[in-house]
Amino acid sequence: MQAQVLLQQAPAEAAPLVEQTLPQPTPGPGQVRLQVLCCAVCRTDLHVVEGDLSPKRLPLVPGHQVVGVVEALGPGCRRLRPGQRVGAAWLARTCGRCRYCTSGRENLCPHSLYTGYDLDGGYAEQMVAYEEFLYPLPEDHPPEWIAPLLCAGIIGYRSLERARVPARGRLLLVGFGSSAHLVLPLAKARGLQVAVLSRTPEHQHLARQLGADWAGADPAGLPWLADGAILFAPAGHLVPPVLEHLAPGGTLAVAGIHLSPIPELDYQRHLYWERDLRSVTSNTRADGRHLLQEALAAGVRPQVQLFSLAQANQALLALKRGQIQGTAVLKVA
Ligand SMILES: [Zn+2]
Ligand SMILES: [Zn+2]
Repeated sequence: MQAQVLLQQAPAEAAPLVEQTLPQPTPGPGQVRLQVLCCAVCRTDLHVVEGDLSPKRLPLVPGHQVVGVVEALGPGCRRLRPGQRVGAAWLARTCGRCRYCTSGRENLCPHSLYTGYDLDGGYAEQMVAYEEFLYPLPEDHPPEWIAPLLCAGIIGYRSLERARVPARGRLLLVGFGSSAHLVLPLAKARGLQVAVLSRTPEHQHLARQLGADWAGADPAGLPWLADGAILFAPAGHLVPPVLEHLAPGGTLAVAGIHLSPIPELDYQRHLYWERDLRSVTSNTRADGRHLLQEALAAGVRPQVQLFSLAQANQALLALKRGQIQGTAVLKVA
């Protein structure tokens, strides 16, 4: 099978992924082999490829928003059948036994494995995945509309939950990449008011198209203080100004897995009046199920820019340069 393989972490400009022909992977106990239909490109892939996240193993096939078809079942698989369409996401496996796994917080399991990080992912024609962590998918949707939901959508959903916006409340999205453009229609379907802060005029334009009540580059122009905000941009210097634009009782959820340093906070100016600063770490399988249900019911349709598997380096570079409107998707089969 063809795969885009990371041999050594390097800046996206250096085209760090190398096309290789690898043997067809064999599913182990509890695993299935998927034929990959498409794989969406996530900012975390960029962090893995460039070295912002230290490597768990090399060589590695990245990619963790995979829509595929079950091809072969490993020993002990019971839940899925060959031919079934499924989604593989970032959370590849948890231990199932620790105090987090046994209390509905498997996103915090210290023994988690991640797709396209610990295990080879979807920048390839085939991959293996743990059956219990795959999401059965409807077959009447183009796979490229579903793939972006599998990380950008799920993390957006969890971030929206973490931001705790009350009914008919006001939500501020900071940065308007893949995840934010999926949260926006979800939030509108929930009846929230939504403002979007982005430096990029194209992203502001897309935000307005998708129903944002306000979109701009300067927080001073915001029409209101927000009840909840989600920081999607991996930019720690934005934390203090966003906290200042929270209403009393407001919450800022930081969605990224990687954030540049946060400048000094002042208790009175940034946190008093019960304003909260929270992170978002991975997701549970329940988040994934709820997101897929809510997004499909709300008719959320991701904006996608399609690339071939061989163009994986170009897709990562375009993402780094802010040239992707919505989500980049590698169309594999
Ligand atoms: Zn665990
Ligand atoms: Zn991701």
